[in-house]
Formats: sequence, C-alpha cells, structure tokens
Amino acid sequence: MDSRLEAVRDTVLARNPGEKEFHQAVTEVFESLGPVHDRHPEFLEGAVLERLCEPERQIIFRVPWTDDAGRVHVNRGFRVEFNSALGPYKGGLRFHPSVYLGIVKFLGFEQIFKNALTGMPIGGGKGGSDFDPRGRSDAEIMRFCQSFMTELYRHIGEYTDVPAGDIGVGGREIGYLFGQYKRITNRYESGVLTGKGISWGGSLVRPEATGYGTVIFAQEMLKTRGQSFDGQRVVVSGSGNVAIHAIAKAQSLGATVVACSDSAGYIVDEAGIDVALLSQIKEVERGRLTEYAARRPGASHVAGGSVWDVNGTVALPCATQNELDGDAAAKLISNGLIAVAEGANMPSTRSAVSVFQDAGILFGPGKAANAGGVATSALEMQQNASRDSWSFEHTEQRLTEIMVGIHDRCAATADEYGAPGNYVVGANIGGFVKVADAMLAQGLI
Ligand code: GLU
Repeated sequence: MDSRLEAVRDTVLARNPGEKEFHQAVTEVFESLGPVHDRHPEFLEGAVLERLCEPERQIIFRVPWTDDAGRVHVNRGFRVEFNSALGPYKGGLRFHPSVYLGIVKFLGFEQIFKNALTGMPIGGGKGGSDFDPRGRSDAEIMRFCQSFMTELYRHIGEYTDVPAGDIGVGGREIGYLFGQYKRITNRYESGVLTGKGISWGGSLVRPEATGYGTVIFAQEMLKTRGQSFDGQRVVVSGSGNVAIHAIAKAQSLGATVVACSDSAGYIVDEAGIDVALLSQIKEVERGRLTEYAARRPGASHVAGGSVWDVNGTVALPCATQNELDGDAAAKLISNGLIAVAEGANMPSTRSAVSVFQDAGILFGPGKAANAGGVATSALEMQQNASRDSWSFEHTEQRLTEIMVGIHDRCAATADEYGAPGNYVVGANIGGFVKVADAMLAQGLI
C-alpha cells in the first residue's frame, strides 16, 4: 500500500478498534488508491480519505419488543449515514445476530462506492440490528419492525436517508416498517424505503435485481474472454433472495447450477437446481435446504462442510461476508474454476481475492457485481418521485444497461490505471473518484 495512504489507514484502524470487517473493507479499498493520489494531489490536500472513513452520522438505539409469550427482549438498532456526496444515504437494513457496529460500517463503507458505480444519485448508508428473525412468528417480526421504526423514522426520509432490505429484511419486513413510518408521520412517503410491495409503490424486478445483476456482470466478464454462461457448471452459496435469482438467471442463460447452501450445509443437484422448488421452500415455507433434498429426486444434502468443495467453472458467492477463504479459492481453482462474481458483500477474504487474481481468474467484486439491487432501488425511487410504475421489461432493460455500464466502467478504469482485467482496482478507483470529486466540490463538510 502507498505509504501516504497507509498512514491514513493506520489512523482509521486505531480510531475504530475491534471493527475488523470495517478494517478489512477500508484496507481493501486503500490498496487500490495509490495511483489515484499520484494523479490527484488535491484529494490528499482535501483530506478526502480521512473524511470518507468517518461516517457523517452514526445512530445506535434501543429496540425493545415482546415475543408471543409476552416476554420482553431488547435488541440494538443501528443506522450509519456514511456519505451523502452523491445523494441521500442509501443502503439496506440487516437483521442478523452477527450485526454490530463493525459490520454496519463495513457495509456502509462498501455501499458508498457501489452506489457511486451505479451512476445513480445515491449516497451510502447501512443499518440493521442484532435481532435474530429465525424461528420468530409474523407477529413477533411485526412488533420488532414497529419498535425499530419508532426510533428510525426521525432519521430517515425521501431526501435524507432511504433504507431497504439486506440479510433478514425482505418484503415482509419492509411492509411492517413502511406501515409504522406512515402511521407515525401521517405521510404516504413512498420514497422513504425501497423494496416495497408492488401494489404500494414497489418496483418490478427489485426482488430479482441483485441476483440477476450479479449474473449479468459475470456474463460481461466472460464475454471479454470469448465465453458465456452457456454450458457452465455453476456453484452458488446461500439460498436467499440473491442466490435464488442468481440461480434462475444463470440457468436462463444456459448454465447448470449444481449447488447452493444455507447455514446448515449444502445441496448438490446435478440435474440443475429446481428454482421453483427452492423458492417454495426458502421464501414461502421459510424452511431449510434439507427439505429440498427430501423432495427432489437425485438431489443430495451435505450437512456442514463447504459448498466450495463442489467443482464448478463459475462460482457465485451469494451468502455473507468472508464465506470464501484462500483455501476454498485454491480448491475451486484446482477444480476448474474460471470466474467468480460476488452476489454478497465482501464474501471473499483478502487472501481469496489474491489467490483468484494471481491465478488469472475473472473476479468481480461485490461492490460492482451486486450493485444491481441498489441500482433498482434507485429506479424504484425514480418511479416513486414521478408517481409512475414501469413494466417488467422496461425495468429489466434498465438494470441490464446499468450492469453492463458498471462492468465497462470498471474495465476501462482498470485499463486507465495500468491494471487491465483487474475489476477490484476498476471498481475501487471508479467509485472513489466520483465521490471524491463531489466531496471537494461541496466544500469542507
Ligand atoms: N442491501 C443491498 C445492498 O447491499 C441493497 C440496498 C438497497 O437497495 O438500498 O446493496
């Protein structure tokens, strides 16, 4: 790392002790930015990096709620409003027991660059809670969401901060959150949340967008080597919203997706995953993958273990951060891997990324490859602002154009900075320069 940047990085780490995922995300971005500072000394003079690493505002709050037996629980709520240079803070809410400030800050930091890459007018933020939705009834989820919004509502708004979903927050939770926001504020403010239901201000394609976008990005990477998804053998991690739609899109392009996972293990289905069955089990019944193997002839379930032990030519990590390490990367490569596109946020460890890049594998980092979700959230905001709703075809077309645009911008930026084919460099520099220019233009704020 460039020594000028290393000094800033060390200060950031010391000022934010114990937040290891945030440290990782900052380090990974800084490693790409040396050459930009050679060309743009004004970024150093304006202390852009120091400012960028300090969130504009961080909110931590108590979320009390009662379970169905009347017992009181207390969780912690977060919203980190990281950067508003390009637009209102934008980013999801994650409900998962692993959530703490370091996770929210890594996600918010990544979101700044991701959102910049989309070309849409959105800043970066993220939030969530250490609440564990697993096993909770609809009524418990509703009470939790209402309590969460009873504090959050005062911090968000169409022109201020626009939350959406992430792990543990889907259409059901956005519905409860929106209802409570409307009740407290007495405003039908569609643009305050994205990922809404289609009959009350949501956008078609938003549920599919992250997974579809990841596959579109991977397809563009494959094209640069004269290849496509047709005939590829694909391994996916996760089995939530992102994974399901990535599987569907990859198979629509002629690939066979042979495996996906959940926290208890993974399934292998050599005939290609039956997306309708997977979606029924995971999204409708909120069940486990063991169910899939039980109902699908020819499929098997492996308890525990790593889905990356399954051989494939394309890997799409769509589960969570740091789920694919250097050993898994080496194993995938020895099994014939040619490309990786990250549907999740920071699923590959830093050593996994180096292993992929040293081996010349096509590697699409999350902040570029999974930007289709938030980009379509911005399309939802556009529809809300104009009180309009677009067709599936039109919205999907816009998503495709955005993903191809992100791919091409990352590739061109990597070329410009002497790192052809390096999408990590392209994404980090491409996102950073846009935000840095806007920050300098807006003065010392
Ligand atoms: N949580 C998603 C992400 O990581 C989507 C955020 C949004 O739509 O605002 O980008």
